Amino acid sequence: MAPPVSLPDRQAVIDQALGLGFDLVGIATVETDPSDAEATVVAHLQTWLNQGHQADMGWMDNPRRQDIRQVLPGVRSLICVALNYYTPHRHSADPRHGKISRYAWGRDYHRVLHKRLKALADWLTAAGEGTIQVRYYADTGPVQDKAWAQQAGLGWVAKNGNLITRQYGSWVFLGELVTTLALAPDPPHTAHCGTCTRCLAACPTGAITQPYVVDANRCIAYHTIENRADTLPPAVVPHLQNWVAGCDICQDVCPWNQRFAQATTVAEFQPYPGNLAPALADLATLSEADWDQRFRASALRRIKPAMWRRNAQAAQQNHPN
Ligand code: SF4
Ligand code: SF4
Repeated sequence: MAPPVSLPDRQAVIDQALGLGFDLVGIATVETDPSDAEATVVAHLQTWLNQGHQADMGWMDNPRRQDIRQVLPGVRSLICVALNYYTPHRHSADPRHGKISRYAWGRDYHRVLHKRLKALADWLTAAGEGTIQVRYYADTGPVQDKAWAQQAGLGWVAKNGNLITRQYGSWVFLGELVTTLALAPDPPHTAHCGTCTRCLAACPTGAITQPYVVDANRCIAYHTIENRADTLPPAVVPHLQNWVAGCDICQDVCPWNQRFAQATTVAEFQPYPGNLAPALADLATLSEADWDQRFRASALRRIKPAMWRRNAQAAQQNHPN
């Protein structure tokens, strides 16, 4: 009879994840039946959906998003990871320049995270000798990644909807391995927004309608990246403040980010030269060929050329001279 497989324990998993270059790693247990914490998260999501706050993001009401057991039958654990992407560059204050959200300045984060997640998944699968099932995602699956990251002790879901870590603020990409391997969990992270409401006050469109509730219909990040309509809503355009790809305002004003941001060690997240101070005039007339050249291996390819032109032209409307 073959000897029993010696499965990795939590420390081996953590060491492997850190060795692959992830900045934070934590583990959450998935019980056979949904826990009270999961039920609370699902109820919050359902209320948000019922109010139509997802706008056209139809994938947000995928039923699997409400139950991780439907993502991987037999799931026992989530291995949650975070990778810091902050660089100390500043957005241009020149009104002729557009602003691009920090997360998209460098190489496409999906590629960077998937490479490392695949390596971790391959290692775990090999260690299990066929007894462990693993799936991995980096913003690509029907997983409530921020809620699970909080459950795994990485940080807390904040009033602006982002996950804030004590080590890096909210300038982190999240990824997770969903696995049938049982692992000892981390304690869930406590919340530390306290009485602060800076992000709610700073949002130029009032998109954070109440703490922990972001209405995509009003959010500049949603409209510049996900909205495929020919024009942006008249209620949003006057408030763009030159944001043409995402919006960092509710993160920039957060005291935790101001206190804990630190430069990434991931060279691929250094900004592409054209992303720090892109000329609105260039984006307003962006051709397919220029778009293809300019946004190679970039998450900004999600924004199609016509959307760039729309966004930049809308931003220019606020600077008629
Ligand atoms: S990303 Fe911008 S528009 Fe959206 S909630 Fe944050 S501050 Fe408001
Ligand atoms: S600005 Fe204040 S309320 Fe908003 S996420 Fe940061 S700590 Fe929380």
